[in-house]
Amino acid sequence: MKLVVLKFGGTSVGTIEKIKKVTDIIIGYKKRKNKVIVVSSAMSGVTNNLIKKSKQISENFLDSEYDVLVSSGEQVACSLIAGRLNHKGFNSRSWLGWQVPILTSGPHTNSRIKIVNKDKLLRFLRQGGIPIITGFQGVNIDERVTTIGRGGSDSSAIMIAKFFRAQRCIIYTDVEGVYTTDPSKLKKAKKIKVISYEEMLEMASLGAKVMQPVSIQDARLNRIDIEVKSTFKKKPGTLITKRKNINKNRIITGISSTQNDAKVTLVGVKDRPGVAASIFKPLSTNSINVDMVVQNISENGKETDLTFTIKAEDLNKTKKIIQENRRINFRKVLFKKGVSKISIIGVGMITTPGVSFRMFQALANKKINIQVISTSEIKISVLINKKDIKKALVTLHKEFKLQK
Ligand code: ADP
Ligand code: ASP
Ligand code: MG
Repeated sequence: MKLVVLKFGGTSVGTIEKIKKVTDIIIGYKKRKNKVIVVSSAMSGVTNNLIKKSKQISENFLDSEYDVLVSSGEQVACSLIAGRLNHKGFNSRSWLGWQVPILTSGPHTNSRIKIVNKDKLLRFLRQGGIPIITGFQGVNIDERVTTIGRGGSDSSAIMIAKFFRAQRCIIYTDVEGVYTTDPSKLKKAKKIKVISYEEMLEMASLGAKVMQPVSIQDARLNRIDIEVKSTFKKKPGTLITKRKNINKNRIITGISSTQNDAKVTLVGVKDRPGVAASIFKPLSTNSINVDMVVQNISENGKETDLTFTIKAEDLNKTKKIIQENRRINFRKVLFKKGVSKISIIGVGMITTPGVSFRMFQALANKKINIQVISTSEIKISVLINKKDIKKALVTLHKEFKLQK
């Protein structure tokens, strides 16, 4: 008998009506003689509200308590799904992460799943039961509840599929699949039939919220194929799989963008070994994620300029850390809000010369100024003014013929 793992995201279980719809999908698989394991997120908005509450209670809310608090949303959604299945005559029950148990390691708020214990769930499956498992959470070696990062239910589903050697892992969401770019930002975005782990990982890390980046790393390491499809429309979705399974690669597969970044430039930094480390160490200790980094070559070998980007919400904290850092000398520091990063992604660029030229030229033709550039083997990112993002998205989508 086939075993399928079905994951439902927050918008899919956002209302009672939607939960009823979700249970119809689950029953469909059951009737087609599958064993089914369900993973659910919290009802949409719930996790955000809980986070807000923790901040209202204290600016220094402990990470360990944060995990207990924010993981509670999943408990509600799973119980409602199980309750509806019971109502329809099916044997179903909810399982919290610690009950399975799903064992995690790493820091609170950002743990990783290491082991999914199978014993109890297998027994329940053999009795014809449908387990409904809370996504996003687990338990650590100290028996404390942990969470695995925002959007983490994707990763829960993939790790459960791995441990149970499931035939399919399907991520049900509020869009029909993975698109060439966020369909809520660009109407012309097109659904991608099949995409490689590498491209999906870049798209997700560079701003495509549809899949959590860590979950794609987990899928890639464990060679789990993922289907992404809509909870609300019965249409084929997107397959995320290994590169080898894809016979036709286009040059560019997708475009991702960020919402709100900020740029920091240190002018006239003393050019000596260890300077970059002295700048970035206190940022990293304060959990500030530095993204793009560029350093100019110093003309006289004494001074250089260094630019980097961060999330706009981290700007005030970063300002303070830089200004209080006695280990670095610089002539001037500039802070700029209102910038965003737009990236083109595709394995096809490895074998196709001239892709960056086409990107830069297309943006130049629209008078969009590029402030910072960073590249990897399969992506090119540029930092531009936030107000130009929509124009850049339309331009690049057209330039690389993604709507075709
Ligand atoms: P869920 O609640 O199911 O986990 P998410 O909100 O995490 O869903 O992700 C789905 C959303 O991701 C979509 O509503 C869409 O706006 C956004 N998104 C961003 N980039 C993309 C993309 N390239 N393809 C599809 N959706 C995208
Ligand atoms: N509910 C969690 C979040 O909002 C996990 C998830 O949705 O996957 O981040
Ligand atoms: Mg999500």
